[in-house]
Amino acid sequence: MADTQPRRGLFWLTRQRGIPLFSVLGIRIVAHYSWFLIVALIAWTLTVGWFPSVLPGRGTGSYLLLGVITAFFFFASVLVHELSHSVVAVLSGIPVRRITLFLFGGVAEISKEPSDPKTELRIALAGPATSFVLAALFWGAVLIMGDGSPRPGLRLAILYLAIANTFLLGFNLLPGLPLDGGRVLRALLWGATKNLRKATYIASLAGKALAGLLVIAGLLTILWGNHIIPGLWLIFIALFLRQAADASYRQVVMKETLAGVRVGELMTTEVVTVPPRITLAELVDMYFLHHHFSCYPVVDAERPVGVITIKDVKHVPREQWETTSVASTMRPLTPETTLSPNEDVPTAMKRMSASGLGRLPVLADGKLVGIVTRRDVMSHLQIRSDLAT
Ligand SMILES: [Zn+2]
Repeated sequence: MADTQPRRGLFWLTRQRGIPLFSVLGIRIVAHYSWFLIVALIAWTLTVGWFPSVLPGRGTGSYLLLGVITAFFFFASVLVHELSHSVVAVLSGIPVRRITLFLFGGVAEISKEPSDPKTELRIALAGPATSFVLAALFWGAVLIMGDGSPRPGLRLAILYLAIANTFLLGFNLLPGLPLDGGRVLRALLWGATKNLRKATYIASLAGKALAGLLVIAGLLTILWGNHIIPGLWLIFIALFLRQAADASYRQVVMKETLAGVRVGELMTTEVVTVPPRITLAELVDMYFLHHHFSCYPVVDAERPVGVITIKDVKHVPREQWETTSVASTMRPLTPETTLSPNEDVPTAMKRMSASGLGRLPVLADGKLVGIVTRRDVMSHLQIRSDLAT
């Protein structure tokens, strides 16, 4: 599957924390909890379904061993597909923080959008190219081993992997976002029209159309084929794809919308500030419990000197709150924790996520002129997108 930065809905799954497995080339591989469910499901269907039907007359232990090993290599194939996207991204100068394995496969968290259609095309094609090579290798092995292979279990495991990788290849090449085929389509349209927004719009429409077809296929599977679980599964995947297609478009629109907006237009100019010499106990009573903000700029005689958050206070043991001052607990101001009115909103968002602060003080000529919060950015975005539709 492709690499998009999800925001809401089912796609949100991929943003949730999982269990870190290992790192390759500085990319963390994280397994979301839902992934273990699908691993178990595939191992189980292989053990009780596929192997007993294609290789009758073996014991349960033998089926279980074949099932688990085949499932392992199936998920390794998915991971290698995802890694190849990431490796090409890294080689193109785009850092990849992590790959999250989850219910529907894998998502590489590529930290920014490619800056040109050619890079986008290369990253998008890397995964399917890898799946193609894997499928070819597995099919080759199946053919070489032949029907009369002395190791029929091994041959059938490889046959399953050949079919699975062919399916991965075919499915990922469907031309709609967020699938790789959709990224390819978007890159081609982007190259032709020089308009990323329009290209993303068309590719995400195609993704939604594909999702619609999958829903119909799912309903037919349930009503005609009487296969309720596979049918529901198709519908579930379709809903996921639809949301992800929407998210890809919204993300591009958001970047474009926010790129032109300055911090000065968004900031709140009436700021509650904290003097550095009060104690943490006073800070909690007079500010945190009174104003309900979780982060305050610290200002000493009109000179901004730091910020203090509820988290900083919680790091100090409660019995020391009466004797500890704000000045000794606050974070000093640095270029990473402040903004200037002329900076744009994407910069503000980047700095918020890098510093972990949801509110950043805005300084002009060494004076505090306002504060920008994540909520300011979000509500501005909401109004913009409401006006646009
Ligand atoms: Zn892919």
